[in-house]
Amino acid sequence: MGIIVEKFGGSCLKDDEALKNAAQIIRQTVEEGYDVVAVVSAQGDMTDRLITKARRLHKEPAKRELDVIMSAGEQLCASYLTVALAAAGIDCVSLLGWQAGVRTNRLFGSARVTDINPARIRRELSKKHVVVVAGFQGIADSMDMTTLGRGGSDTTAVALAAALEADICRIYSVIDGIYTADPMEFPQAVKLKEVSYSVMQELAYLGVKVLNPRAVELAHKYAVPIEVRSAFSDAPGTVIREEADMEKMLISGVTKKSDVARIRLNGIENRAGQAFSIFGLLARENIDVDMILQADSEDGNKADIVFTVDEAQADEAVNLLQKHYAGANTIVCDKNVAKVSVVGLGMQSHHGVIKAVFEALSEENINILMISSSELRLSLVVDAADAERAIGAIHRLVIGKTEA
Ligand code: ASP
Ligand code: MG
Repeated sequence: MGIIVEKFGGSCLKDDEALKNAAQIIRQTVEEGYDVVAVVSAQGDMTDRLITKARRLHKEPAKRELDVIMSAGEQLCASYLTVALAAAGIDCVSLLGWQAGVRTNRLFGSARVTDINPARIRRELSKKHVVVVAGFQGIADSMDMTTLGRGGSDTTAVALAAALEADICRIYSVIDGIYTADPMEFPQAVKLKEVSYSVMQELAYLGVKVLNPRAVELAHKYAVPIEVRSAFSDAPGTVIREEADMEKMLISGVTKKSDVARIRLNGIENRAGQAFSIFGLLARENIDVDMILQADSEDGNKADIVFTVDEAQADEAVNLLQKHYAGANTIVCDKNVAKVSVVGLGMQSHHGVIKAVFEALSEENINILMISSSELRLSLVVDAADAERAIGAIHRLVIGKTEA
């Protein structure tokens, strides 16, 4: 039998009962004859609490120290789960990131996995031990601890599954799959049986929080099948793989990102090099820019540029532009917006979908502030207050009604 990687999110390890529940899930997989590598997040909101404490002591703690602090959450959780497994009669051992062979670059707080050396894991598996690995952490060549960015234990799980050529990587949380809209907010949302990597990548980038987008990217690269499922129900989850049977559904889902801001530069001179001076400036400071629109004035001498950034980086972006870019009349930032995206395969070749989305918003009398589209998505920026209604209308009038 093969290897299965089972990753547990913080919400399904949050207390003793949850730890025991995870141990039972693992025990069942062992009894089915698989070798199991479990990957854990920190318990509940532990990571947030660790960061808050560090920030109480220093407004901007050194990133290296923050990584040591944050990785402690997974360290504790891995050994708690191992103790719970032992109590359930399972032979097991916990390993920290470095012991599990997770090597990374030295970008503290958002390190990338550069290499996995699974020798120790394989040794433990050959002794018929379940191996519980602390997710979210690795070690740089300098022997410093690193973390992989928030939500990074999904990435640990997929990277280990790839290195061990596991049969599947199961991601357990409190949500039992990927839905056509957030099931917590939209009870009419429908669970998808399967989703392709590329569609899942868009969904994750555009607001579906069940899976980390970098983990999906890695799974795609190494063709690791993922199943997203609940630790608290036996319902089959959603499988993410290459040739997903999309049940003829053209649209897979509609997502919302509320943590975005819209920045507008008015009255810039309409000449070559402007975009480079604006976006080069932001790129040098690692500010990620998303939708970008430019329109020129009637006489063609001036232009306005509008773009979106993560809300957390909006003030920094505006400050940078005000300090180092003198070419605009005014710079305006609006944080009261949300990005609603309709995600699916072949959107651009199905004009009916785009029309239907606009029709849905028109019926609800919702004004669209920005639009961008690609083969995989149609994204709309709207007032934050309109976002829920927009999703409701799109779900009602578009999803499930359009077939490829
Ligand atoms: N515990 C880390 C976080 O809260 C990593 C994870 O949960 O995947 O971001
Ligand atoms: Mg997570």
